[in-house]
Amino acid sequence: MSIPNELSPASDALLTNIITLTEQRDQLSLEYSLFLALEDILEPAALLAVEWPGQRDEYQVVHESPSLPQPPASVLEAAHGLSGDFRHLGMREGLDWLLLGIEAMVENGRRVLILGLSGWSQNDLRMARGMLRVYQNFTQLLNDSEKDTLTGLMNRRRLEKHLVELLAARRLGRRDYDTQRQDYLAVLDIDRFKAVNDNFGHLIGDEVLLLFANVMRQSLRDEDRCYRYGGEEFIVLLREINRDQALMVLERLRAKVASHIFPQVGHITVSIGVTLVEHQQLPPQIIEEADRALYYAKGHGRDQVREFQALIQAGEIEVPDVSGSVELF
Ligand code: GH3
Ligand code: MG
Ligand code: MG
Repeated sequence: MSIPNELSPASDALLTNIITLTEQRDQLSLEYSLFLALEDILEPAALLAVEWPGQRDEYQVVHESPSLPQPPASVLEAAHGLSGDFRHLGMREGLDWLLLGIEAMVENGRRVLILGLSGWSQNDLRMARGMLRVYQNFTQLLNDSEKDTLTGLMNRRRLEKHLVELLAARRLGRRDYDTQRQDYLAVLDIDRFKAVNDNFGHLIGDEVLLLFANVMRQSLRDEDRCYRYGGEEFIVLLREINRDQALMVLERLRAKVASHIFPQVGHITVSIGVTLVEHQQLPPQIIEEADRALYYAKGHGRDQVREFQALIQAGEIEVPDVSGSVELF
């Protein structure tokens, strides 16, 4: 995009950075372009993004500008205890410090951006606050676009991203990843849902989907992720779990659905196909495996959990022909 040359260099930089920021379509690159924008516009002497994953006290540096003087311990402490998303700390060890709380995908943790300038003018503070708002608004928009409006669950787009991230992280072999534990992906499909619509109407059908999503959420652990994959199909990603636990969790979910009384409709059941996530696989292969196990469950009485690997081992379904082409998302 060309920018008229009458713009002042400051306006030019601002405009260019806002354009770049709003071109991003995922949280990480959005965050990264916020760092670059702040570096470009404010030219801070120090810029450091730190996070405290989980309940840990130890911080990790996510991003730092090249010419970084290490922030004093008191600044890091203030960053850890930051409430709200904006705090001008003032002078500490020769630099004037500003803290920006940024939303991130740090699980159960938080991420803070620490900026040191020789001195913050009112204009600088306004600029930093403004860029933070643009970033927050856009983050919100990104999140909304990855949510299913009916159930509030994450949608298929988000699943695809999560799967790619999960596989990449596993392939890199995160240090704290316990090899006894693995990841399982399950596809859930409500049984004879067409009949619900036919007998009670689409609106009641929608309500069943919403209540079904609630039952799912309630019977899973916080770290499990639920997605609405399509109409009456859902996906659950069980991470860092062993086989017995995974099957138990899904069986409990199946039983919970079967015993739940849905207003007007009464009882419904769900069929579930599950597969072990192999880290060298592609996302469509993983979903395909779970789908094949689901298809088997549908053909053998519904209202049951079936595992792809067990079905292969028992010779109930054939080993997939891996030489064929794989359809990407
Ligand atoms: P099966 O046990 O084989 O899964 O049978 P089924 O009737 O559930 O399967 P089928 O895939 O034939 O039907 C799914 C139905 O789900 C068809 C469609 O009208 C309905 N459906 C899909 N999305 C929605 C939705 O958002 N709201 C409502 N109310 N119905 C939906
Ligand atoms: Mg279906
Ligand atoms: Mg169905």
